[in-house]
Amino acid sequence: MTRYLKLKAYGKINLALDVLRKREDGYHDVRMIMQTVGIYDQIELQRTMKPGIVVETNLSYLPANENNLAYQAARLLLEGVQIQGGLHIQLKKFLPVSAGMAGGSSDAAAVLFGVNKMFRLGLSKEELMEQGVKIGADVPYCILRGTALSEGIGEKLTPLPPVPQCHLVIAKPGVSVSTKYVYEALQADRLRPDQHPDIDGMAEAIRQQDLFKMAGKLGNVLELVTAKKYPVIEEIKDVMRQKGALNALMSGSGPTVFGLFTEPEQARAAYEELRYGSSSRLTKQAYLTEFFNVH
Ligand code: ATP
Repeated sequence: MTRYLKLKAYGKINLALDVLRKREDGYHDVRMIMQTVGIYDQIELQRTMKPGIVVETNLSYLPANENNLAYQAARLLLEGVQIQGGLHIQLKKFLPVSAGMAGGSSDAAAVLFGVNKMFRLGLSKEELMEQGVKIGADVPYCILRGTALSEGIGEKLTPLPPVPQCHLVIAKPGVSVSTKYVYEALQADRLRPDQHPDIDGMAEAIRQQDLFKMAGKLGNVLELVTAKKYPVIEEIKDVMRQKGALNALMSGSGPTVFGLFTEPEQARAAYEELRYGSSSRLTKQAYLTEFFNVH
């Protein structure tokens, strides 16, 4: 029997993000191109003698109770199942929190995967994805991973071919953004046609494996709200472009920004400038990474 599992919960960026409309149920219909990146939270699952689910995290400001999405994932699968003892979840966060990188959703996805394996529940990937959407709209994607078109509220997923590899700089400014606020403030029904990013064009660029075309198609409608409110987002994008990025964009509802680079030296220079240089005043966290492609 598996008593211990170590898992990686990878973060995502949105290469393109469009909001179509607000639905009657309060959710928004979206069209997004999702991409997993090489930064992850570490999760350790340990079976315990004592019944119950216990969460421990390295960030004091994160809930370590039933409000943690990792806790909710374990409870969802274990409720009603006869097991002996309980589960300890150790969560080491490296992904920025409330940042537009689906950190919490990815933790939940990893725990769903891990608990299914550890307790031999026998659920398929599709069944885990169906369960996952009860926790959050991005959870099914975080189980799938890789490159995908995400529609509906995020639960309708179409896998795309892996993107051409490049160097990524990811930077989070020191502001926190509420996803709910950003979606509400967008007023999706009042957008002009030219304000919608070209989601199909991005999918086509990926199918053609054309990194330059992809860079030209980067677009996120939520920048209309978040980047307007926080000018630091455009400032970070400018630094990335000055250092040679093909292009730069805000991810999700923000405020995290990423830049695509073909040259490793340029990516490193941008990262060092944002992390240690005079532009470090713009950022709280900065990372140098790559796409994480699932084959
Ligand atoms: P998204 O890209 O889906 O909008 P996000 O990156 O903006 O996600 P998260 O970091 O996933 O946001 O989570 C933000 C909120 O969820 C915070 O208020 C935090 O307290 C809560 N939360 C619950 N569990 C977790 C977790 N395991 N990791 C991070 N945040 C969590």
